[in-house]
Amino acid sequence: MKLAARLGAIAPSATVAMTARAKAMAAAGVDVVSLSAGEPDFAPPDLVQEATIAALRAGHVGYTSVGGLPALRDAAARWFSRLYGVPFEAAQVAVTVGGKEALALLFAALLDPGDEVIVPAPYWVSYPAQIRLAGGAPVTVPTRADRGFALDVEAIARACTERTRGVVINSPNNPSGAVYDRETLAELAEVVRAKDLWVITDDIYSALTYDGRPFASLLHVAPDLRDRCFIVHGVAKNWGMTGYRVGFLGAPAALVRACVTLAGQSTTHTATFSQYGALAAVEAGEGVVADWLVAFDARRRRLTAGLDALDGVSCALPGGAFYVFADVRGLLGRRLGADLVADDVQLAELLLEEAHVAIVPGSAFGMPGFLRFSYAASMEALETAIARVGAFVGRLAP
Ligand code: GLU
Repeated sequence: MKLAARLGAIAPSATVAMTARAKAMAAAGVDVVSLSAGEPDFAPPDLVQEATIAALRAGHVGYTSVGGLPALRDAAARWFSRLYGVPFEAAQVAVTVGGKEALALLFAALLDPGDEVIVPAPYWVSYPAQIRLAGGAPVTVPTRADRGFALDVEAIARACTERTRGVVINSPNNPSGAVYDRETLAELAEVVRAKDLWVITDDIYSALTYDGRPFASLLHVAPDLRDRCFIVHGVAKNWGMTGYRVGFLGAPAALVRACVTLAGQSTTHTATFSQYGALAAVEAGEGVVADWLVAFDARRRRLTAGLDALDGVSCALPGGAFYVFADVRGLLGRRLGADLVADDVQLAELLLEEAHVAIVPGSAFGMPGFLRFSYAASMEALETAIARVGAFVGRLAP
């Protein structure tokens, strides 16, 4: 069968693929520890579950508006107004099929062939693929592990050409866990003004910061940019509702209308009863999952310390989200029997096959030489993973 040429530039999502492999191994009876998925291991709050069941029983199973349940758009607008400190109306918000569709709609609505979008690396796997699918060209700008993966605003400015349309930022960051500070965002705002760009800001982990670090948004430091600042959010990470597939986009009303037009010709909308569950979550606020933060914090410390103690592995304590992005360049070039550990992709493969630990190679996030470990898993699973990775590293010969 001849597939469209656009597929040539698109690989399967590495996060989705690795999680599927780990699930298949577990189903086949292998005792695999999966730290590959970015998915809270906690059930959604009771009030969310009850609202979802009540919606099903009340027969809320038909179509709703393409832009989302009106009550959910209202609730999300109130939440955004609080979170970003600038007023949002329902017309400036749309409900999407997870944050992933919000991103895809924005790229489809904003990009013409050849338009460039700056993507700081490491980045979430789907940004470059979605930009390419929309006809655009991702331009990656690396950050540095020894600077805590902070945005390199000077490098972003240098990467701008006359084709650059925008920048995608994500803080707390998947996969690095970096949390951008206000000073850096203010510097980015200067570049955005000077080069006349837009910014897509993926804030899906906004409630997941540690050590009292505040979540900071471009809108906090540059409310004048609100017509060029497009927000992507959702209930997946903050409320543990990944499979509900409810995301939000926040943007000027005209752009929201354009995205809703696109959705109306593709997905229509996410499940109506999911939207009722999301309404309960957003109305209750992020505070209902405060206990999770305590658990995530302890796991973050344990996983970082456990990995950093291994010879050839180094990682610093991440400030947010639920990932440790470990530098494993010290392991590359070593051997496991006849196998040369040439790169992070092969290392991830060997860890899965030999140690039965599923993680995602840094190459998938635009940063070879690193591995992403999710700590949205029980402490017991993390202890097992640390012990297995440690034993595996011990088997490597120089
Ligand atoms: N965002 C999550 C991750 O990075 C979910 C999987 C995906 O859609 O990529 O693991």
